[in-house]
Amino acid sequence: MYLPRFAFEKPTSLKEASSLLAEKAVKSALLAGGTDLLPRMKYGVADPERLISLKGLGASAPKVLPEGDLILDGASTLSSLASSPEVAEKAPLLAAAAGRVATREIRNIATLAGNLCQDTRCLYFNQRHTFQFMEPCFKRGGDFCYFIPKGKKCWAVYMSDTAPALVCLGAKIQVEGGGAGALLDLEALYSGDPLHPLTIGSDTIISGIRVPPAGGIRGWAFSKLTSREGMEFGALNIAVLLETGKDPGTCTRARIAVGAVSPAPARALKSEGSLVGEPFAPELLAEAARQVAEEVTVTPHHGYSKWYLTRALEVEALNALTRAVNQLTGGR
Ligand SMILES: Cc1cc2nc3c(=O)[nH]c(=O)nc-3n(C[C@H](O)[C@H](O)[C@H](O)COP(=O)(O)OP(=O)(O)OC[C@H]3O[C@@H](n4cnc5c(N)ncnc54)[C@H](O)[C@@H]3O)c2cc1C
Repeated sequence: MYLPRFAFEKPTSLKEASSLLAEKAVKSALLAGGTDLLPRMKYGVADPERLISLKGLGASAPKVLPEGDLILDGASTLSSLASSPEVAEKAPLLAAAAGRVATREIRNIATLAGNLCQDTRCLYFNQRHTFQFMEPCFKRGGDFCYFIPKGKKCWAVYMSDTAPALVCLGAKIQVEGGGAGALLDLEALYSGDPLHPLTIGSDTIISGIRVPPAGGIRGWAFSKLTSREGMEFGALNIAVLLETGKDPGTCTRARIAVGAVSPAPARALKSEGSLVGEPFAPELLAEAARQVAEEVTVTPHHGYSKWYLTRALEVEALNALTRAVNQLTGGR
């Protein structure tokens, strides 16, 4: 598979990158690590005329502000975040999720902002459509779905591993360009529409990610279910973040976010609510895990059925909740 022809720019400042992106005469796309965008260009599902590389801007190392916020550069590679002492101390949940993306080779060039802005995926969409699939599907601008041929909508799913972790951490993103220097809740980045999964325009750059400090003592877990534990996107992933006050046995705040089973990371709000104010007990965790599987509507994808994913979600939720609680209580 060959890349189509494209023009290339490598600005050296955010301002220069923003003004290049704002030029409407040529269809441009940001290029970070390229591990999501370049394969899409090869499959013929992304067709920018010009790539604007962010490599000339460099990436600042993670830093912790005096008030405790963790500041991350959107251009940081996933491997640098997985091994950063600042991330390990302030957001180990993110370090764990970043370390589970793809393979070491990919993590060495793939960036955090690129991971958050990756497109939704489908077994039939992420292919060259030269001879097997002639009709354009919904996501290619047609009105057909190869996955559910009688379906009336697109079933592509959003598969970032870092997004559920950052959603649990209450992260905000710094956007430049279209949104002119605004700080947005990460959850607001996602539209829930598989055709256009992001709410920001293609003229917008995510320059940084801000993770607020912990409100209490934390227990966390990240689980990613794959069939081979290899270079794979998840069948599903789940991030859990629990906080307690002085009593390590009672939850004061809970965040649960599920990825890879819908067009956006999905919060399990009812399950989160069921944990708050309650002492951790095996029955409470089992009921919270059951609730996660009930409230998160799972999209079947990549050969995994809805039945399988729903049951696997309950198992992974219980596993993640138990690990998070064990961190808080020392397994007592
Ligand atoms: C074999 C393989 C396995 C993979 N496995 C996984 C996996 O397990 N989990 C997972 O989450 N992902 C996986 N991926 C997808 C991809 O590698 C990651 O999502 C990666 O983090 C994308 O980052 P990137 O820097 O390469 O993004 P790019 O490909 O450079 O960009 C991705 C998108 O984000 C936009 N973008 C990039 N930077 C910015 C910015 N600063 N502001 C605004 N928009 C921006 C680009 O324009 C593009 O649309 C896999 C990819 C491959 C090829």
